[in-house]
Amino acid sequence: MLDVDLRSVLKCVRCGACRSVCPVLEEVGWESAGARGRMLVAHGISQGLDVDDDVLESLNTCMTCGMCKQMCPAGANPINVIENIRHRLVMKGDMTEAQKKLHKRITETGNSLGEESGRREWLGECTGSIKETAEYVYFVGCLGAYRYPESVIATFDVLSHFDVTLLPDEVCCGSPLIRTGFDADKMIAHNVEQIRMVGAHTIITSCAGCHNTLIQSYPDEFKVVHVSEFLAEHLSELELKRLDLTVTYHDACHLGRCRGVFDAPRKVITAVCDLKEMKTNREDARCCGGGGGVRTGYPELSLALVKKRLMDVPDGVDYLITSCPLCTKNLIEGGSDTDVIDLVELVRLAMK
Ligand code: SF4
Ligand code: SF4
Repeated sequence: MLDVDLRSVLKCVRCGACRSVCPVLEEVGWESAGARGRMLVAHGISQGLDVDDDVLESLNTCMTCGMCKQMCPAGANPINVIENIRHRLVMKGDMTEAQKKLHKRITETGNSLGEESGRREWLGECTGSIKETAEYVYFVGCLGAYRYPESVIATFDVLSHFDVTLLPDEVCCGSPLIRTGFDADKMIAHNVEQIRMVGAHTIITSCAGCHNTLIQSYPDEFKVVHVSEFLAEHLSELELKRLDLTVTYHDACHLGRCRGVFDAPRKVITAVCDLKEMKTNREDARCCGGGGGVRTGYPELSLALVKKRLMDVPDGVDYLITSCPLCTKNLIEGGSDTDVIDLVELVRLAMK
């Protein structure tokens, strides 16, 4: 029998209030695809329920978006329960092929994409100008480094107005491993050693997953701020011009609902152009469909969810702004009619 934290599981009083907010349950329709169903599955496992493909699907289709936790009247935390059980199952070898492949990719290459090329290739010829020590370090993240060099270059360019450097040998923050039930201790230890080496007191992140993980799973000796928070605090030092644009903003779950960062990106956006909110926003924003390993493990489900999210984009906007490269990727691949760019790319437009 699996050693499950029963106190957390039994906090769920099965009221069903979360049924109205879980985007996965809305899409799939089965009770096992919502928070209440997953809590029941967790309870079943604690009582010796056999782990078959249906059980793995129930637990692994949660995007860890936090909608259920936010509104649970009993104070249950389905995300913690689900991640805890995923971990215990993985430890005993119960996992999907997608989980196995993800783990292999990250442990063999140090990044979630399985890329063999250098993580700093986006820097081009500029490697020599990187400071060895600085007050701040920009934690780039896997997706940024390998898939969105233009947004990483924009971020580093904007941050170069301050005492900011990069880690000499950054590896994946560990988020995809932790969310899908694995340990990320080696990745974390490696990055922590690097951060200490550059002497930074603050880590600046530009990915919601990295941000949440650096706060939740790294030693608290470093301050962690998202680039939107950093820029909101230093707006007056950037000499930004006003742009004749109207944009909308997608709140990433792990930055917004999970970490409460709602105002900073809006402060930055409204400093340079007009903002028209998405149909669901701030605490009520729908997930892009990519979190919790769902994008990797259940691409069709992820696609259906992002299509629903895109229906929230208001008419008459020039850009859909994000603060997370995973959201950017999902929104673009989900077929967004509106150009999707990172918040820092918008800031860079206002600096020209
Ligand atoms: S997780 Fe919370 S909201 Fe959902 S059924 Fe359980 S007690 Fe109710
Ligand atoms: S975290 Fe999101 S996807 Fe997971 S059960 Fe809760 S509402 Fe559903």
